[in-house]
Amino acid sequence: MTGLALFDLDDTLIDREAAFSLWLTEFVDEFNLPSDALAIISRIDMNGYASRNLFFQEIKEMFDIDETIEELLARYFAEYPSFFEADAETIRALRRLRALDWKIAVVTNGPPTQMKKLEVANLLDEVDAVCISEVLGVGKPQAGIFEEAARQCGRPLSGWMIGDSASYDIVGGHLVGLRTIWMHHDRSWDSLELSPDAVAASISEAVNIILA
Ligand SMILES: [Mg+2]
Repeated sequence: MTGLALFDLDDTLIDREAAFSLWLTEFVDEFNLPSDALAIISRIDMNGYASRNLFFQEIKEMFDIDETIEELLARYFAEYPSFFEADAETIRALRRLRALDWKIAVVTNGPPTQMKKLEVANLLDEVDAVCISEVLGVGKPQAGIFEEAARQCGRPLSGWMIGDSASYDIVGGHLVGLRTIWMHHDRSWDSLELSPDAVAASISEAVNIILA
């Protein structure tokens, strides 16, 4: 059985929350921010969904930081990706799929620096294609990014989409006819309109489902 498996990146293949909190701890330290800054900045971050421009505008105003938004952004994009890592179990699971002739693509919404996260986490050699929304000009849940991933893998758009976002990964995958696995991270599914085909706590669990 061979096929195509598309994986989201942040909080799916890699632990974005852990990397963000490492970055944030250093940031708060470096700028000597008050102790409640950790919680406040985490809130402004909106799990990474707040645009980085607005994110730093709010931080700059709230904590009266001298650096310009451009300087803060440049520093962020240079430093933040270096905090990412993939665990050994995730890498083993991806290798298991590819050993059975599955093709794997990363389908992620975000800036071109998403590529640096994959590089730092040693994931580039473990996948066949990487599709980044701001590089392609089309993002999840639109069909175009899924179609491009399949094209780059040389496979028809049929198989699985695995991700932690209900509205981007699960809805997006479902709309192009993929089966879906939701990375639940101890949350319960709350959309009545559709459900993922399966839920998983880890990539190795997701791969077990795919291969079952
Ligand atoms: Mg995600």
